Amino acid sequence: MSQAETTPRTIGQQETNMSLDNTSHPGRTRPEELVPSRYAVRIGEIDVLVVSDGVLPLPTAMLGHNADPAVRAAWLNDMFLPPDAFDWSLNVVVVRSGGQTILIDAGLGLDPNLNLPRAGQLIKRLEAAGIDLSSVTDVVLTHMHMDHIGGLLVGGVKDRLRPDLRIHVAAAEVKFWESPDFSHVSMPPGFPDALRATAKRFAEEYRSQLRLFDEEYEVAPGVVVRRTGGHTPGHSVVRLASGGDRLTFAGDAVFAVGFDHPDWYNGFEHDPEEAARVRIGLLTELATTGEQLVATHLPFPSVGRVALDGDHFRWVPVFWDY
Ligand SMILES: [Zn+2]
Repeated sequence: MSQAETTPRTIGQQETNMSLDNTSHPGRTRPEELVPSRYAVRIGEIDVLVVSDGVLPLPTAMLGHNADPAVRAAWLNDMFLPPDAFDWSLNVVVVRSGGQTILIDAGLGLDPNLNLPRAGQLIKRLEAAGIDLSSVTDVVLTHMHMDHIGGLLVGGVKDRLRPDLRIHVAAAEVKFWESPDFSHVSMPPGFPDALRATAKRFAEEYRSQLRLFDEEYEVAPGVVVRRTGGHTPGHSVVRLASGGDRLTFAGDAVFAVGFDHPDWYNGFEHDPEEAARVRIGLLTELATTGEQLVATHLPFPSVGRVALDGDHFRWVPVFWDY
């Protein structure tokens, strides 16, 4: 079984005083941080750290734009959530395996035009966790929506990253953003333009560092990124496996509402029918294997398992080892 790591552990050669742990680091944590912003688990020999990039307020209609509004309102009421808008979590994961330090997604970043001041916390929270940007050897992108790539576009970040950084992303994703189709999404005004512009800027700034894969690629021992499509054509999940333990980072294949209503179309899905098929297939698989699940927009720290409950799914958070 995996367990939270509570003692410092040597990882890699140049990071002898760093660990992925749940302990506080006096002097590094900002006084305004009232709750911990990271949570560590071990998957066999692989270290996993979930880091919160903050939260992103979004209108509730985006949870299921094909749903009956009365049924959607009832679900929100059952979940004790406000009717019109609520904060979505933004989770990023750092993985260490085989001497590599891998950042899975990069959060929203800090675009002043977006006026989303509670998101884009990733860089300072990586620092608070003792993770230097120059120690990151690989980035894996589940897809190129701005809430997954924006952190790499924050001023000064690229200069602090290694020049030989590898950024793994599905070839279909990069191709999609050359001429993206927004005809099936349901987003607040302004979002499509912001998503287009951010993906374009990212592809331009990091083109020489992109390492494209078609369907599947093993980034490090036991760390495999696999394309699912659906949410975007190149959307991918990351499967971790070591010593009999397993954990899947599902990116945007799974949202909090997706356990009760996996067939609801999320407003950010570019092919919502395919996204629903991907979600149901993945949740069914995870319920069968009992492996751990982390997803970008599940409530932090987003570590849990999936149970089958009759004909729908149930989210079972892990008991925090803290
Ligand atoms: Zn997202």
